[in-house]
Amino acid sequence: MPEIDTDYLVVGAGASGLPFVDTLVSLTDARVVIVDREARPGGHWLHAYPFVRLHQPSANYGVASRPLGTDRIDTDGPNAGFYERASAPEIVEHFGAALDDLVASGRVTFLGSHEYRGADADGHHVQSLETGETTTIRARRLVDATFTAADIPSRHTPPMAVDDDVRFASPNALPDHVDAPAFTILGAGKTAMDSCVWLLEQGIDPGRIRWVKPREAWLFERSFVQPLDQVAGYMQMQAHWVSASARSTDGRDFARRLGDVGVLVRVDEDVEGEVFRGAIISQYELDRLRTIENVVRGRRVHRITSTHLVLDDGEISAVPGEVHVDCTAHGVPYAPTRPTFAEDRITIGYVTLGIVPWSAATVAAVEAIHVSDDEKNRLTPAMCWTGSTADVIGMLHAGMSGLSARAADPAVGAWNETCRLNPAAGAMAKAGSDTAIGDALTTIITEIGPALENLQRLAGQPASS
Ligand SMILES: Cc1cc2nc3c(=O)[nH]c(=O)nc-3n(C[C@H](O)[C@H](O)[C@H](O)COP(=O)(O)OP(=O)(O)OC[C@H]3O[C@@H](n4cnc5c(N)ncnc54)[C@H](O)[C@@H]3O)c2cc1C
Repeated sequence: MPEIDTDYLVVGAGASGLPFVDTLVSLTDARVVIVDREARPGGHWLHAYPFVRLHQPSANYGVASRPLGTDRIDTDGPNAGFYERASAPEIVEHFGAALDDLVASGRVTFLGSHEYRGADADGHHVQSLETGETTTIRARRLVDATFTAADIPSRHTPPMAVDDDVRFASPNALPDHVDAPAFTILGAGKTAMDSCVWLLEQGIDPGRIRWVKPREAWLFERSFVQPLDQVAGYMQMQAHWVSASARSTDGRDFARRLGDVGVLVRVDEDVEGEVFRGAIISQYELDRLRTIENVVRGRRVHRITSTHLVLDDGEISAVPGEVHVDCTAHGVPYAPTRPTFAEDRITIGYVTLGIVPWSAATVAAVEAIHVSDDEKNRLTPAMCWTGSTADVIGMLHAGMSGLSARAADPAVGAWNETCRLNPAAGAMAKAGSDTAIGDALTTIITEIGPALENLQRLAGQPASS
């Protein structure tokens, strides 16, 4: 049985695993083995629907050591005026090239098509999905880079019964169904919105689209998540975030306050936003989504037959030959809190506001720079995402505590300031010449203390010593 001795065994070669390894290898002389069930790196992006793009700019996604895209400003379509957003093939290519660099360093081994099978006194065991052979790996630390693994439509079991004669598709197959007489889009999240906008862009009349949307979502308005030359918007978002945190009475109140200043938006402004998953949308997309008038709100579908849909409280009729598009996969999953650093394991969860690769690279930088796990956990408190607006306070508290602690740590703060995955990178240098950035920084500095106190009180956290 093959055996390998290494410093880190990383399970998962997606948007968590590769940015973690990339930063770790750049800051230390560690040796790393990466295992993944897939033959190639890229995680969920290997199976994404064809019209998907990053929610956020490519400028802050991928591994820190190499660019993703060229920081182009798009001139038309849903992203006009904003920094480019990579397609799934572009993201997969980026991660493939990043892995090639890591392997070429001589310190990283990739075991593709291998599954992690657990550990015993001999070490960790991974099994080849091609040959069945098991390799034993002795590592100083196990890195779980599967903790935020995405639940995506093409690998998802629909949560409703579907009769055999029903035309039912994941968004991956939607391009094969554009000839359908009508479309029912199932789901409240960004995948459903992407599917609706894509159909409208193909010239489908909005009257042919029905949207079954159990809950309304709060979404980031795209101009507030731009980096580089548009970073002033990002800094204003941070300032509003801190201000609202200092004054909010609960998660819903926090979201409404950000809604009042335009940072968070809803497709339907008359409906309470119950969902908060960090998705991003532009005014262009909102305008198109609002042309869909046939919206079934507040109810879930339990069964689909060729003649009707069975909902929580009754039935609605189906259009003969219509296609039902399953957009009910959660995408970003519910992530319970688990300490980032615990004995011989590192768990890569969210430690930054969104941007999985930035979180993963931050965990790696903290691992490289500090020795004590207590100190590392103080710098990377894990944010718990339930996806529900009502639960947002605990996540805000963890995120803001970590951000403040890292900013006050000279080595981690310096690394973060030059990391391309950090959307705020470079903002400090512009504060003197850009009033919007300067004003935002003043608000952040003035209100961060009251914000942390209020969030700690609301989250029921014990007072810090
Ligand atoms: C459509 C969509 C758009 C998104 N856009 C953004 C965005 O713009 N910005 C952002 O920050 N986030 C975005 N997200 C969320 C984010 O990309 C995902 O949550 C994140 O990519 C998860 O990365 P991951 O590496 O943790 O998981 P995955 O990409 O799911 O990768 C996990 C990997 O682990 C492997 N694995 C799991 N278990 C084992 C095992 N036992 N043995 C071996 N291998 C295993 C899997 O094969 C997989 O390759 C988006 C998500 C979706 C669905």
